[in-house]
Amino acid sequence: MDDCLFCKIIAGHIPASIVYQDDTLVAIKDINPQAPLHVLIIPRRHVATVNDLSPSDDGLVGTMVRRAAALAEESGYHERGYRTVFNTNREAGQSVFHIHLHLLAGRPLAWPPG
Ligand code: 5GP
Ligand code: ZN
Repeated sequence: MDDCLFCKIIAGHIPASIVYQDDTLVAIKDINPQAPLHVLIIPRRHVATVNDLSPSDDGLVGTMVRRAAALAEESGYHERGYRTVFNTNREAGQSVFHIHLHLLAGRPLAWPPG
């Protein structure tokens, strides 16, 4: 999608710190990290919000979640704990309308979230 920040990053038109990529996903460091580990797991295909997922995307979502677990393990946080979050639409704080799974770890994460 021409106007989408994450499509531009995935296409290599905007630089990002890539921590993992394959045919389906790209994982980048968040530019404004909210924890010592803050990675965004982004599907290469543009999907605007979680509301736009279809049953055929069930495998994609599972792959995203399992990649978060693998990255948490690689970073040494899988036993200590980590948080995975999809923000959906404005009241939940979604600012980039191309789905991405936040992976946060490395400090105590309060609940309920703000
Ligand atoms: P959202 O608010 O949509 O759930 O999350 C978007 C995330 O993208 C935010 O945490 C924000 O810091 C991050 N972000 C925004 N612009 C850029 C950018 O240009 N590069 C990277 N790596 N992250 C970005
Ligand atoms: Zn996009």
